[in-house]
Amino acid sequence: MKTNHMFDAIRNAVPAPDAVFIETADGRLWTYGDLLEWSGRLANTLVAAGVEPGDRVAVQVEKSPEALMLYLACLRAGAVYLPLNTAYTLAELDYFVGDAEPRLVVVSPRAAEGISEIASKYGAHVETLDAAGGGSLLARAAEADSAFEDVGRDPDDLAAILYTSGTTGRSKGAMLTHDNLLSNALTLKDYWRFTPADRLIHALPIFHTHGLFVASNVILMAGGSMFFLPKFDPDQVLALMPRATAMMGVPTFYVRLLQYEGLNRDVAAGMRLFISGSAPLLAETHRAFRERTGHAILERYGMTETNMNTSNPYEGERIAGTVGFPLPDVELRVVDPETGTPLPDEETGMIEVRGPNVFKGYWRMPEKTKAEFRGGFFITGDLGKIDARGYVHIVGRGKDLVISGGYNIYPKEVESEIDQLPGVVESAVIGVSHPDFGEGVTAVVVREPGSDIDEQAILDALKDRLARYKQPKRIIFVDDLPRNTMGKVQKNLLRDAYADLYSVNA
Ligand code: ATP
Ligand code: MG
Repeated sequence: MKTNHMFDAIRNAVPAPDAVFIETADGRLWTYGDLLEWSGRLANTLVAAGVEPGDRVAVQVEKSPEALMLYLACLRAGAVYLPLNTAYTLAELDYFVGDAEPRLVVVSPRAAEGISEIASKYGAHVETLDAAGGGSLLARAAEADSAFEDVGRDPDDLAAILYTSGTTGRSKGAMLTHDNLLSNALTLKDYWRFTPADRLIHALPIFHTHGLFVASNVILMAGGSMFFLPKFDPDQVLALMPRATAMMGVPTFYVRLLQYEGLNRDVAAGMRLFISGSAPLLAETHRAFRERTGHAILERYGMTETNMNTSNPYEGERIAGTVGFPLPDVELRVVDPETGTPLPDEETGMIEVRGPNVFKGYWRMPEKTKAEFRGGFFITGDLGKIDARGYVHIVGRGKDLVISGGYNIYPKEVESEIDQLPGVVESAVIGVSHPDFGEGVTAVVVREPGSDIDEQAILDALKDRLARYKQPKRIIFVDDLPRNTMGKVQKNLLRDAYADLYSVNA
């Protein structure tokens, strides 16, 4: 019998056909029986639309249970699921569709017109998932057979291509296999103790690895259920919390929840786990959340290319400012970025990982793929260290390292000093081209409303806290730091905005 590596595992984890899989914000319920039925109907519809095993199916639709069914239908049909950020413009879609060359591009009815020219340029066929006028994939699925014989897929076959967030440059398509998804989902389910009794608050987008693979796949493996919110809304989240057991979010979710009085021990009493990832969680947020709710947020570290690499422990101490231990099966080492020589504990270097979680390579970028592996390890691009107790610390991205006057400066070290100053909300430290130093350390700072802390006050305060070469040359005040949909600070935008700051002509 043919096996479908990932979907067989999902099928085997189904707790009962009438067990709830998803509850939407407007109270719609999707059971595991619905999951099997609709993923089958949609898989039949995809095949009838000409999708063959190995074909890419690009999907840019709003978050919904139906959209998640499309992911499952792709697995069953042996297609490669290729979700696209709903914020991408037509110009961006032109790049992604041209790069991915999908068989189908599935969009919302609103976008169907604009995309048709792009799709025909690259030989793709446009579909809508849902459309009032009929003809959509869902309308045809409703007429299709719910029984579907899953296409056989080996562990090493592609299940999905996910584009990276584009924080450091143009997004790259990460090729993920059935086993990448399955091994990580099983590991996380056990590590975080998910069971059929879990009800996860899911307010993340499902085009990104966090909401799609970490959150949804883990719940699928556990046979648990999810509250599916179209986007993060603190009022909605607080209203659901008494009925939930766990939440996964990006750090900004926690920062925002802390601004609400409704966040307290009572509302969070039935919760067993709050997880944070995708960007660094400030130690201050961790502390404040614990004080208000009694819960220590569990921070973990992953990326599109590798799924999850590390996690703070479920039992045992969750240490703020760390991302915990390498997960079982994940080998993580810190090496000298130039030579690749492993470094001793406490020394900062490049983080590299190896394991069943690590992707197959960048789509249509064989040279780049080769350049990003060393001795079987993937070079993450993140700088960090392992402390004496084995906890991994992320220090920042290699690309954000500032080199000033020949010295290496880790922005995070400067940012943590600035962030502690009264009147400061947060900061981002970048390197800006400087005629004397190569790069000038530059701090972009958000002040608390009403605070009168100024450039000189910050510079003075840092004088005896940081070595001279680490001290910023300039402080720039802004209302907000630019962030992308996953809450990541876009330092490349800041570097562009202030590129001429020290230019002699400026
Ligand atoms: P691109 O690769 O296109 O520049 P990106 O790296 O932001 O974008 P993702 O794969 O979404 O794309 O994000 C992975 C990165 O997010 C990691 O390499 C790391 O820099 C950061 N990250 C994830 N979790 C954490 C965390 N807990 N603490 C600090 N950084 C984190
Ligand atoms: Mg990246």
